[in-house]
Amino acid sequence: MFRFLATLLYPPLCVVCEGSTPRLGELICSRCWKRARHDPVSEVLFGRDPRSHRDMTPAVHVGWSWNDTWEILLHKFKYQGYARLGTTFGSELAELLEARGYRPDAGMKLVPMPVTGTRRRERGYNQAELLARALSRRWDVELDTKLLARSGASRSQTKLKPAERWKNVKGAFFAREEREARRPILLVDDVVTTGATLHAASEALREAGHEKVRCLALVCSTRFCS
Ligand SMILES: [Zn+2]
Repeated sequence: MFRFLATLLYPPLCVVCEGSTPRLGELICSRCWKRARHDPVSEVLFGRDPRSHRDMTPAVHVGWSWNDTWEILLHKFKYQGYARLGTTFGSELAELLEARGYRPDAGMKLVPMPVTGTRRRERGYNQAELLARALSRRWDVELDTKLLARSGASRSQTKLKPAERWKNVKGAFFAREEREARRPILLVDDVVTTGATLHAASEALREAGHEKVRCLALVCSTRFCS
């Protein structure tokens, strides 16, 4: 009740421009949100392995291209505790995919990209899991947070060159084998840059017997899109 009154008296500010938000309880103003969604990525992308220059499997569905607004939004989402942004991002992403004609495969499972235990403790949540959770609610699809895990040894990818990224994440994941290996999997991550992480995680799933793996990322950085 107090929180509701406080929201009425002091409407929350947009996390990007710090202006007032048009609707109570929202975190982004319509202007900034429009700016973030300026450049939707309309096709299914394939990562390119910088060593072999060959297209990698799997296919990656992507929402939008990276820009200054996403930079701020994702920083808030990942490092500043704005976990609630996951719900907004997830439902907007689902809407975008549906508008493109995407439908979840029958029996599909959503698997979030795992983060290391240390990072999870620091942040208190896994941002990819929040996205996947919002998608699973919207599509009524099972969310499996236990299927894929991180072995923990890999360093953060953000400061690495493309070729180093591929080396760094090789073998960084392991997947649980299971009886339901025939169920299609949609692997969810927030950002795709070179595609190395998604590739390594999909490989781990395949090695565990999961044959149908597709990926989905909220945004892709320009290097990957171009
Ligand atoms: Zn704004």
